[in-house]
Amino acid sequence: MMAQYLALKADHPDKFVFYRMGDFYELFYDDAVKASKLLDITLTTRGQSAGEPIRMAGVPYHAVEQYLAKLVKFGESVAICEQFGDPATTKGPVERRVVRLVTPGTLSDAALLDDKQENRILALTLEKGALGMAWLSLASGDFALMDTTVEKLISELERLRPAEILIPDGAALALFDQISAPVRRLSPWQFDRESASRNLARHFNVHDLAGFGVTDTTLALGPAGALLEYVRTTQGGTVPQLAGLRVESHTQFIELDAATRRNLELTETIRGEASPTLFSLLDCCATGMGSRLLRHWLHHPLRGHGQILERQSAIGSLVESGAYIDIHRALNEVADIERIASRIALRSARPRDLASLRDSLGALTALPDSLPQTPFFSSLALALQPDPALHALLTAAIKPEPAVVLREGGVVADGYSADLDELRTIQVGGGEFLAQMEAQERERTGIANLRVEYNRVAGFFIEVTNSYLDQVPPEYRRRQTMKNCERFITPELKQFEDKALSAQDRALALEKQLYEDLLEQLQPHLPALRLAAHAAATADTLACLASRAVECNYVAPEFIDDPVLNIESGRHPVVEAQIDDFIPNGVQFDNTRKLLLITGPNMGGKSTYMRQVALIVLLAHVGSWVPADKAVIGKVDRIFTRIGASDDLAGGRSTFMVEMTETANILNNASEHSLVLMDEVGRGTSTFDGLALAWAIARALIEKNRAYTLFATHYFELTRLAQDYLQVANVHLDAVEHKDKIVFLHAVQEGPASQSYGVAVASLAGVPRDVVRQARRKLLELEQSSISNGLQGDLFAAPTVEEPAPEAAPDELVEALTKINPDDLTPREALQALYALKALQTSQ
Ligand code: ADP
Repeated sequence: MMAQYLALKADHPDKFVFYRMGDFYELFYDDAVKASKLLDITLTTRGQSAGEPIRMAGVPYHAVEQYLAKLVKFGESVAICEQFGDPATTKGPVERRVVRLVTPGTLSDAALLDDKQENRILALTLEKGALGMAWLSLASGDFALMDTTVEKLISELERLRPAEILIPDGAALALFDQISAPVRRLSPWQFDRESASRNLARHFNVHDLAGFGVTDTTLALGPAGALLEYVRTTQGGTVPQLAGLRVESHTQFIELDAATRRNLELTETIRGEASPTLFSLLDCCATGMGSRLLRHWLHHPLRGHGQILERQSAIGSLVESGAYIDIHRALNEVADIERIASRIALRSARPRDLASLRDSLGALTALPDSLPQTPFFSSLALALQPDPALHALLTAAIKPEPAVVLREGGVVADGYSADLDELRTIQVGGGEFLAQMEAQERERTGIANLRVEYNRVAGFFIEVTNSYLDQVPPEYRRRQTMKNCERFITPELKQFEDKALSAQDRALALEKQLYEDLLEQLQPHLPALRLAAHAAATADTLACLASRAVECNYVAPEFIDDPVLNIESGRHPVVEAQIDDFIPNGVQFDNTRKLLLITGPNMGGKSTYMRQVALIVLLAHVGSWVPADKAVIGKVDRIFTRIGASDDLAGGRSTFMVEMTETANILNNASEHSLVLMDEVGRGTSTFDGLALAWAIARALIEKNRAYTLFATHYFELTRLAQDYLQVANVHLDAVEHKDKIVFLHAVQEGPASQSYGVAVASLAGVPRDVVRQARRKLLELEQSSISNGLQGDLFAAPTVEEPAPEAAPDELVEALTKINPDDLTPREALQALYALKALQTSQ
């Protein structure tokens, strides 16, 4: 048996092998040790191998899902080995085969999936700076690909959030170190474009892939092929049903780089929590399908106004008619048919899946009546009605409340198969037969407490307590001796037992067969079912956005072709929901006003204001209504943000390095149609350094990029830019000082802020009184000395470079310091450098 195990393990060295033994899946050797830690299960030993006890740990088969879920969360994969053949009749160990691979990206079980989030697997390949990517969601059947550039990798990963990534072995890219999803390396030949093209064409039953917009030069073809084969292997050879092959391009969506997706807290807070985020605020969908679509929409704001306006007016008609309430009411009765369809495609649907599909199809029939009478909703209504034969088939085939698992029967409805009904009568009749026989034998033997019974271990038997044993007739044969009684069998009972047990076995086998046939019969219905699922999800998401539009008082934004962004009384959707008195603020951009320099105290509301503008623009392009009194929006191609300080120590970049990398990305890519948010740029370095950088960056944004820019800064000196450039305007957030307190007004006003409230904020935050007092004194001193030195006025004057005096011998310490570039150091090297400097100083 261990030889068999080791052979299977050799095929899956990088996965846990769950080896079925009776009612348990066992793990051996290192798998057992590792799993015992990850799963908190007991590590035992069994037998010996090469003189060493074999380490072993097991999980009960009926609870396997929860253990799989845990391992997958840790990014691990599992090969499930089942027994084939009957242990009773097999000599030696029963044959075992790997029936399925459970990997983080290829899950389809309801128990293992988050119902509000798409689970994707992504494959990618790199060629001379170009990046080909294909991704697939097994649970929804969505399969897409895209060719792009290596620089976009991180932002694409942030957008798609794959649970697992496949790359060709040998592909080297420093960026891979930054990827948090498990990366699996496959042989490079699996990414071969030619065979991928052949396999995909065969899979989709088409002559070539041109109809999907894929050509032989599409780089992503290789990854798409690798993906299809990988998924096929994990599902035990079953080819999953896929909705088609989509080619995505960057021009379809407003581009959001990775930092922006995080900074705007679309679906996750900066700290990685699920709420409060834009998604958690908006999501009131009745189904998991709707929630997943909403999440997708938020990450894919559209550029083309056509589809946006379609969604927007759909929301309009739902708001007007109030139909969103009825839609959600109807959808409350609808299960996740998208995921059930996928499990049917993989032949892994459980009895309860089919029962909920049946009930959901019934409930769906009510939905079209709730939809407004517009062409858009009429086409949804059409998709919502798959062939009634499907509902009829499921109703006929599946019991109203089927058993959870097929193994013990109780799934196929009575009346569906005459053969099954007959076999069941024999079993059911068993109960009557036993009662009759009991009465008859009591009468015949005079033993009043004689019982005729059945249990799994002993089969059928007649039980007589010890006190009546002398009355037992001679034809009773002893079957089992218990403490207080004996159990007997008679030829008549034995004959019945054979018949009943074989009927039960046959009924179970037949039921299994009927179920498998049913899954087969359902296959042709899958495309229609997927369409229905998508239509239901769309109705759900639109109803959700309509409901929020009403509850939160949103308006439909207006789109125009001119370069304008005009928001009146805008609000931050998430912050507004958390506090009582949110102060609305507008924004106005056009060709003569393209960069707003925002000044004001810390905590004044600068970040909130900037984010709110970005969120309103984003929501508008999702097709949603927006939190404002009025919004007029011109063409937007990208949203960039550089907000807050975040260290990327794992990626080996200091705070300032992250800040500058993000800034470089903005300066290199922002166009005049981009919206750029710059929060406190330059803060990560010394004052003059930072100020000089911030000044140069702002000038580049005005002169070169000409993007719509919100530029918050604590460098008051920058407010002078408004004098030099027509397109720059100063706005500020205000606060009033009241005794030792400070009150933030949160209202954005024209002009620069009058003073910095840093010390007052420190006092508010509880910094000890005498420290605050000293700071005030020092501030006064500094302000006076800077005025007397003409510091403020001189900042933008041409720099005068002082030549070092030639005769001055370079100081050893200074020389050592000069050689150090903090951004190139690992933390350890930094520490060593510090010790070396200290040692130098002591030696001097
Ligand atoms: P800053 O970036 O200027 O330091 P924030 O934008 O972080 O300030 O805002 C600080 C706090 O002020 C927020 O957490 C929020 O509670 C509150 N706030 C911000 N904007 C508003 C507003 N428009 N109305 C009411 N409260 C606001």
